[in-house]
Amino acid sequence: MPSSHRLLEQAQQILPGGVSGAIRAVEPTIAFTRAQGAYLFDVEGRRYIDYLGGFGPILLGHCHPEVNQRVMETMARIDLIGVGASEQEIALAEKLGQHIPSAEKVVFCNSGSEATFLALRLARAATGRQKILKFQGCYHGWHDAVLMNVISEAEKLGQKDPLSAGMLPQAIDDTLVLPFNDLASVAEVLRDQGQQIAAIILEPLPHNMGCVLPAEGFLQGLRQLTLRYGIVLIFDEIITGFRHGLGGYQRIAGVVPDLTTMSKAIANGYPLAVVAGRADIMDQCQPGGDVYFAGTFNAHAAGVAAALTTIEILERPESYPHLFRLGERMRRGLEQIVRQAGIEATVVGYGSVYLLYFLRPPIRSYHDLLRNDGARFLSYRRQLIEQGSYELPVNLKRSYISLAHTNADVDQTLESAHRILHRR
Ligand code: PMP
Repeated sequence: MPSSHRLLEQAQQILPGGVSGAIRAVEPTIAFTRAQGAYLFDVEGRRYIDYLGGFGPILLGHCHPEVNQRVMETMARIDLIGVGASEQEIALAEKLGQHIPSAEKVVFCNSGSEATFLALRLARAATGRQKILKFQGCYHGWHDAVLMNVISEAEKLGQKDPLSAGMLPQAIDDTLVLPFNDLASVAEVLRDQGQQIAAIILEPLPHNMGCVLPAEGFLQGLRQLTLRYGIVLIFDEIITGFRHGLGGYQRIAGVVPDLTTMSKAIANGYPLAVVAGRADIMDQCQPGGDVYFAGTFNAHAAGVAAALTTIEILERPESYPHLFRLGERMRRGLEQIVRQAGIEATVVGYGSVYLLYFLRPPIRSYHDLLRNDGARFLSYRRQLIEQGSYELPVNLKRSYISLAHTNADVDQTLESAHRILHRR
């Protein structure tokens, strides 16, 4: 039996389902034992070009030497104190304040789910209201207020689709769900319930359904409506923050939300998350205000050191152009292959994110993605993996390029894509 399967069997004895998270158990089962630059290596020593990027954080490439060195130097001096704020933490907060348009004040925690949990609590405290509004296809973490209507079956569209057993019914009731890019339906709901809604939370560029670009005027329209109704606008930039630019997607779109959550790419693989936003809302945190927020590992020195170094590298003038150029090379190459093969497929993406849906445009909301041929999507990705390019074999998931990828990596993946898509 291949040793990847032996490891899985061993894992299943002690970890539920053999993993520590909902979509970590995927087919084919591969036990990866090493990650370096743009590559993953499995237990048999086989090399894969990595387009999973640890679900997004790996923006510079795996085990980045400058990041790791700074983390190790830091950890030799300071690990976890627990009171006050460290010099590095303050420096990182100031850096975020300089780069992110909405970041008047900043706090650190450890995961994206914690960040969105705090952002929603701050919004409820600031408004004295309970309800929140999210969009079908966006993911904001695994807590009750947001864990619904991500990748939904066709028959669940238009109704609440909680992703887990054990969620509080009241939390599910208090969250409204609307289609992304449909400003008219937001305006209609706000006319009735605007005074009860504390926050609108969204991925300004939703990557949890692949890549659905915000329609012209959609983000601006949400900004105007939330100002009119006194609703806190939260941009969940946990994927887009740092991935697409130092100022997040908000700077690219020119729309400033009240609160922003960021994580993933900020620290290139080390755990760190951020809630940033308007000073009056952020200052509600204790001890200045009455919103309770805490965490033993908040602003841990490893994550802070990793983030400071990651941002320094991203500030180099060649960093984002490299990421965007490689993304463009991949998308153009795939478009050409799809055209030549005459298949029903659409290449989408932004910056260093890309994917191939097996459907025809238009793609404006999750509803359009129901036309994706999921079986074909999975079969394509499994064949890519067999040929040494690791794109997550889960329907609608985005793929990520890192600063460590080269033209040759992208071209090798395009050659595999060509072989697979022309073989029918
Ligand atoms: N928001 C978004 C946009 C995300 O993509 C994710 C994670 N995929 C989260 C929140 C939750 O982050 P975490 O997994 O770190 O809790």
